[in-house]
Amino acid sequence: MEGKQRGLLLVLSAPSGGGKGTVMKELLAQEENLRLSVSATTRAPRPGEVHGEQYYFVSREEFEDMIAGGRMLEHAQYVGNYYGTPRAPVEKWLTEGRDVVLEIEVQGGKQIKSLCPDCVSVFILPPSMEVLEKRLRGRGTEEDALVRKRLETARGEIPHAAEYDYIVYNDRLEDAVEDIQAILRAEKRKYSRNRDFTERMNAHA
Ligand code: ADP
Ligand code: 5GP
Repeated sequence: MEGKQRGLLLVLSAPSGGGKGTVMKELLAQEENLRLSVSATTRAPRPGEVHGEQYYFVSREEFEDMIAGGRMLEHAQYVGNYYGTPRAPVEKWLTEGRDVVLEIEVQGGKQIKSLCPDCVSVFILPPSMEVLEKRLRGRGTEEDALVRKRLETARGEIPHAAEYDYIVYNDRLEDAVEDIQAILRAEKRKYSRNRDFTERMNAHA
């Protein structure tokens, strides 16, 4: 019954260690129409990270060329490195009717919201700061000094939850994933995303 609707742009943010990566992985496994935008970054790959999968790992010079060439939808600096969303794949997928998720930090989230007011933004929160610290340490990918820096950054990021449309608590993973699925489903049924319904009804008459 549905015509080819433009895809929905989902912005997903969380304080570092809040569980974006974990929630995303599960969401992508369950949502067939959802595509993950692969960001570019100047930070070094963590063990097991592959160029073109988790990130495009580029030099500062390459990153700045991408900005200058208008090839970034948004970009920001985070804990001393550049992170940004390559524009072309996002635009292509949305036009094809795919939903696209951007897993980005709060400065980027703000840029996307003003660029694309009909995007849907979700802020994932850990159940508490203690759990956040435990999870960050448990991940074991950063040294102690960097964990402390990320916790400090997280404290500064949490108040930005107020700028997002939805808050999802990542206590039980399955609940967090279900919450985001419910948000996507409800957003798609908004009148503003279904204005062409008379055309579609006539086409199916
Ligand atoms: P982010 O991508 O936001 O930095 P991660 O997805 O890497 O966060 O999660 C940080 C750590 O917390 C990981 O070790 C992950 O396995 C763990 N984690 C994430 N979500 C949950 C959850 N719901 N329950 C238990 N552990 C979790
Ligand atoms: P990490 O180094 O842990 O992979 O990511 C650090 C932060 O950068 C996370 O909050 C992550 O969501 C964010 N991030 C990843 N890609 C992008 C991006 O393309 N743009 C912006 N603004 N932030 C990003």
